[in-house]
Amino acid sequence: MRQKEIALNIRPIKPVDLEDDEHPVGSYNTPLREDAFLLSDEEKIDKIESHFREIMVTLGLDLTDDSLNGTPRRVAKMFVQEAFSGLNPANRPVTRLFENKYKYDQMLVEKDITFYSHCEHHFVPIYGKAHVAYFSSGKVIGLSKINRFVQFFAKRPQVQERLTVQIGKELERVLNTEDVAVVIDANHLCVASRGVSDTNSKTGTAYFSGKFKDENIKREFLNYINAK
Ligand SMILES: [Zn+2]
Repeated sequence: MRQKEIALNIRPIKPVDLEDDEHPVGSYNTPLREDAFLLSDEEKIDKIESHFREIMVTLGLDLTDDSLNGTPRRVAKMFVQEAFSGLNPANRPVTRLFENKYKYDQMLVEKDITFYSHCEHHFVPIYGKAHVAYFSSGKVIGLSKINRFVQFFAKRPQVQERLTVQIGKELERVLNTEDVAVVIDANHLCVASRGVSDTNSKTGTAYFSGKFKDENIKREFLNYINAK
């Protein structure tokens, strides 16, 4: 029921709709510096560790306490190796395309892909489900690969609208098709745990290209992801 409400309330991606004071959105590329990968992961971890120690000390925490002592390094490793590992193009999933030998020409859907991301405005979690569909252009990929692409783009500081478009554009590229749909239904802890403290609201975003712009095909996909 919850999901049904969400799919019906999806806002199509229109750049003008996305601007608001709390969450402004620019291009669909993650804004990266030119020198983003000059430091090795090890060097980044060392640097972030010392900065995070400063943050904790500034907050007044006593880092000689056993429980806090390892936190700066733990956070630094988590940022570089896990939470934001999708910033590094070296971690982009490698795909192998298979011949679509069954000549299956209907919609392929992968629904309920769980992901964890972080809001780039507050660095707190965004988590939810992604639902992806495409029409094969003659080649297919393993379904688990779609999952990996979702995780790759989720592991960045993100805004949900950009995450949705990045997954859609990437699947168009790797599958060599123009017919891709992505729907994301997510919880934002920056909304739930701070600010307006609305613990019940979810945010729906969608990306539809090619055949999915057709109302009947779009409805078939949305009906499928809403089915129990
Ligand atoms: Zn936020």
